[in-house]
Amino acid sequence: MTTSFRMAAILAAATLPTLLGAQQQAPAAAARSIPVSNLRYEITFDSATARRHIIAVAVNFDVRDNGAVLLSFPSWTPGSYEISNFARFVSGFSATAGGKPLDWDKLDYDTWRIEPAGARAVTVRFDCHAVTLDNAAAWSQPDFAFVNGTNIFPYPEGRGFEFPASVTVKTQPGWLVTTGMEPAGTAATWRESNYHDLVDKPFFIGRFDVDSQQVEGRWHRLATYPAGAMAGPARSLIWDQIGKTVPKMAAVFRETPWRTYSTMMVFTREVGGGSALEHSNSHVGIYNPGFIGIPLLASITDHEIFHAWNVKRLRPADLWPYDYSRSQPTPWLWVSEGITDYYADLALVRGGVVDSAGFLGLTGQKMEQTAGEPPTALEDASLTTWIGPVDGSQYLYYPKGSLAGFMLDVLIRDASDNRRSLDDVFRELYGAAYKKGRGFTATDWWSAVSRAAGGRPFTEFYEKYIDGREPFPWADILPRAGLRMTSDTLREPRVGVATGQDSSGAIVVQMVQPGSVAEAAGVKVGDQLLALGDIDVTSPTFGDAFRSRFGKSEGDTLSIRVRRGADTLTLHGTVKLSERVESRLDVDPDASAKAVKVRSGIFRGTTEGQSGR
Ligand SMILES: [Zn+2]
Repeated sequence: MTTSFRMAAILAAATLPTLLGAQQQAPAAAARSIPVSNLRYEITFDSATARRHIIAVAVNFDVRDNGAVLLSFPSWTPGSYEISNFARFVSGFSATAGGKPLDWDKLDYDTWRIEPAGARAVTVRFDCHAVTLDNAAAWSQPDFAFVNGTNIFPYPEGRGFEFPASVTVKTQPGWLVTTGMEPAGTAATWRESNYHDLVDKPFFIGRFDVDSQQVEGRWHRLATYPAGAMAGPARSLIWDQIGKTVPKMAAVFRETPWRTYSTMMVFTREVGGGSALEHSNSHVGIYNPGFIGIPLLASITDHEIFHAWNVKRLRPADLWPYDYSRSQPTPWLWVSEGITDYYADLALVRGGVVDSAGFLGLTGQKMEQTAGEPPTALEDASLTTWIGPVDGSQYLYYPKGSLAGFMLDVLIRDASDNRRSLDDVFRELYGAAYKKGRGFTATDWWSAVSRAAGGRPFTEFYEKYIDGREPFPWADILPRAGLRMTSDTLREPRVGVATGQDSSGAIVVQMVQPGSVAEAAGVKVGDQLLALGDIDVTSPTFGDAFRSRFGKSEGDTLSIRVRRGADTLTLHGTVKLSERVESRLDVDPDASAKAVKVRSGIFRGTTEGQSGR
């Protein structure tokens, strides 16, 4: 098939005026499916498919023309800036028409070519291996699965993304389905008018807890797996935090852009930390159960919800529209991710989830985090994340971009005597770019920033702190917001291991730092850490107790008690002190009246002549 097609292209080329032109056309023509219509995806996840860790998919569609249907899988899920090639999780591919098998082969590694051979209604079936615990992918347990559309909805290659499609979910009686997708009016069926929305509404299928509340006059849904994991006071707490913070985020844009919003959470000890992925009216987070009830969970939740405005709707032009076939690097992740993180912190303080000291604590942590990494330009960190750089800069645009947003907010409020703020920049761009159906450009961004600051130029700011690697000028910025920084250099005992908690609550060594006390003493990855000296490592006050007991004992013997397999061993190390600079951001009691206005404007989300809500 392929060979004969190439022959035809070469023969045709000879008859055309320019050989080059025809050669360029051939591959483009090869990568275009015949038109397909009436696309209906059917996904099955029940206890039988769960046992095989698969989601069974059927794709039904109609064709009119003769020629091949090309179905491709996305190489990434928007928001998760890495190439995943979801086609690799596909197995058991078949294509039939009227129950008879159709010929198919692969055009490239993520494109299937199907020959309908005159048939008008085609069914394609395959299994998606739901084995990846990553919020961009698909994962299953005996009673539960989450899945992103990018993993299970192949699209007709070269035909654009403005086609409607429906999705029907078949599952076990009594199991639930939650998605942000639009109900189609028939049971267990949803419908979207274009492919971008189709792959932007992940599913939870199975046994989990779900309840709903009104937030800002819209239904907000909370789906949590496993059932019972987040109940009682912990569930009330996150609902309370969502209720307090969403209105503060909506106030920035003066619009709540969704009909319903779904917060979807998976709790599992298979992850040590927590991460989440945004969508236009939902997000999926995967967290260690230790996140339940702690402020960090509210902060991540707010970050993802703020993304519904910033990046899902207001988006850099490089990401508009999404291209699923290749990476889409952009120098703007410091705005799309970093400043989203700034607004997550602002939502917490403006909504009263943390007080102003809590907000300054979070900001101070970001300063410390940024200071510990090699100087990296925000634009470079944004562009490079796709390839997973090993120099520590892969996710630097989060804390450092958040701080850049904080600086811009201070500079705009300072220049306008707190009459304008970074909120005005976002509101203006939301109207001028997103509402006009396009992404924002560098000119859009910097002219909006400059306008908000009364015409102050930001060229030098951009060259030094966004495109450049200069340290942020806190000595100039902080006084404008009535804040100051104090730094202490601490000398602390450090053992040099990274640990995690297993399902029994045991502290298990996950990494031993080269050259550390632990390495010299013979601690190994997989050891269960029991005690350092006579201090039990599972004690809630372990950190303080350890620092006060060994903080002045450089060179003393340190016994390290571990369980290795069936044995309990006592290893011997030497106490080593390491320097750590602790920076604290706090309120300057001697701030000018103007700076106090700026500071309280940031904390409350207000400007002069406009009150917060
Ligand atoms: Zn984010």
